Order: sequence, then structure tokens, then C-alpha cells
Amino acid sequence: MNSLQNRSIHLFRLFGIDVYLNWMWIFAVVYFVFLAGPGPKHGKLQFELWNVASVIALFAIVLMHEFGHALACRSVGGKADTIVLWPLGGVAFVSPPWRPGAMLWSILAGPLVNMILIPITAGLWLLVLRQHGLLTAHPMAQLFEPSLLARVGNVGHFVYSLFEINLVLLIFNMLPVYPLDGGKILWSVLWFFIGEARALRVASVIGMIGAAGFLILAFYAGDFLLIAIAVFMMINAVSAFRQAGIRQKVQQIPRTAGLACPACGLAPRRGNFWQCGACGVHFDMFAGHGHCPQCSANYMSVPIQCLDCSTTAPVSAWFTVATVDPVEAGKPA
Ligand SMILES: [Zn+2]
Ligand SMILES: [Zn+2]
Ligand SMILES: [Zn+2]
Repeated sequence: MNSLQNRSIHLFRLFGIDVYLNWMWIFAVVYFVFLAGPGPKHGKLQFELWNVASVIALFAIVLMHEFGHALACRSVGGKADTIVLWPLGGVAFVSPPWRPGAMLWSILAGPLVNMILIPITAGLWLLVLRQHGLLTAHPMAQLFEPSLLARVGNVGHFVYSLFEINLVLLIFNMLPVYPLDGGKILWSVLWFFIGEARALRVASVIGMIGAAGFLILAFYAGDFLLIAIAVFMMINAVSAFRQAGIRQKVQQIPRTAGLACPACGLAPRRGNFWQCGACGVHFDMFAGHGHCPQCSANYMSVPIQCLDCSTTAPVSAWFTVATVDPVEAGKPA
């Protein structure tokens, strides 16, 4: 359980993935419905009702995007069992295998969903136009003709907002600004060439510059939601920049041969990174086979985090994967 889930309600479970809704969605709904929604503005009540429909559509589209991430992550053997929808977009908690290719596919699959939905919703919009006898010989141009909206009624207007939501989400998400999908794609592509940590450093610096620019624009526009998104992006880019620095240092540390992280398959780093809860001594979890060298407290079943891929797994799992010490691996934790 992370802090996002704690403040969320469980909606449903699909393909073994639990979908949560963050309570802050209430604010987003109020904002969209009464202030900024894309709905038809034919009368006050109609505006609000159709904005409710648009919010639900936005919600469904974001959800499909997140399922794209989660299912792609699974397809390459990664772990993905939680999606949290919160006002600044969805978050699919994915841990793909720690390889640039697997990471790239897990990230690409989200925007890919919107890419598939764009021609579908554009087709629906052209159908609406045909029904109203408005379709011309140049349908592509009619995808971006707001003057038509006044002539297609509420349902037509709603169909257009589906197309618009997908298009805006895709363009925004593909900006190469970490933590947006485009920035994460940049990270995984650079990973192939300069390694994971240095790639994250580059992507997060571009992310911070992008977020700063976005923040200035958001203030200029005076849009509260855009300001919130920009601040969220900045916080994430800064945290990724710090992470990258830590990872670069971690990469200098030698490994304990013969053991392997159950998620990324890399041997654990050597060093006194752990503190015994019983006697307080700092020790190397793997040198002592999951036991404190001073008081012999057993940590085999205690979950610890891999310094390379950040996946959490019990200490014993590192021994189970390894082939070097079958006696220890067979021991109950
Ligand atoms: Zn995404
Ligand atoms: Zn690992
Ligand atoms: Zn101890």
C-alpha cells in the first residue's frame, strides 16, 4: 500500500489489476463540470450534464491508457497489479523487467491506446457529420473545424469531445518531459546507449526545464489545474534527478557473486546497507546469509529493496534464485 492508494477507493478488479479512484477526483469533477468542461454550451443545465458525460469519458480513456501500460508490462514478464486514477492523470504501478526494451514497451503502450482511439473517434465524428449532412469532400479538414460543433447537437458535440480528449492527451503525454510518457520514452531509449542512471539524469534535467517552462505558461494562463500539473511534474523530475544521482553512486559498488534479485536478476551490492532492528548494528544482509552477524536475528523472510531495480522481495528470494548455496536456499525462512 502506498500513500496514493491509502486515499483512494477501490473501484473494481479487471485482468487481476485493482483499480482505485483517488478522492481528489471530486475536485477535478467539480472543476470540469462547472468551470472548464468541454461539453456543449447550449444552456446552463445542458452544459453541466454533458460535462458529466465528458468527465466519465475522460475517466474511461485515462483508464484504458493505464491498462495499456499495465498489460504491456505483464506481457514482458513484469509486475503490474494496481492502477490509481487521480486528477492529474492515472498512475499504473508497473515494474517491468529491468531492461530498456521491456521498459520502453511498457511506457509506449499507454500512448499507443490513445493512438488507436484517435482514428476510431475521428471516424465516429465524421459519421456524425454525415448524419447531419455536413460531410464535405475534405473530411480531414473537418476534424478541426469548431464552427461545426454548433450544428451537430449534444450527442455530436460529445462524440467530438471524445476525439479531442484523446488527441490532447496524446500530444501532451508525448512531450519529452519527464515524468510524462514522452520523457520516460526518452529515458528508456537513452538507456540503450548510456546506461539507465545517466539516461535518467538527462531525462530528468530536460523534465525540470520543461516543467519550469510549463509552470510559467500555466501562471500566464492563470489556470489552476495546469499549475498543479506543472508543480507535480517538477516534483517528479527533481526526485528522478536525485534518484539518478544515487543510482550512479550505487553502480560503483561491487556485487556479491552467486546471488540474484528475483526481479532483475542482478547480484546484490556488497556493503553494510542494513541495520539490525534487534541490536542496531549495520551489516551486509547477504554476507551473513540473511542473519545479523552480531545477534543472529533472522531476516530471511523480511522484504528488502533491490538497489538496482527498486523491487521489494524477501531476502530469501535472492538465495532461491541463486544456485551457489542450495543448502541455504532450501532452508525455511
Ligand atoms: Zn501513460
Ligand atoms: Zn533487482
Ligand atoms: Zn543484530
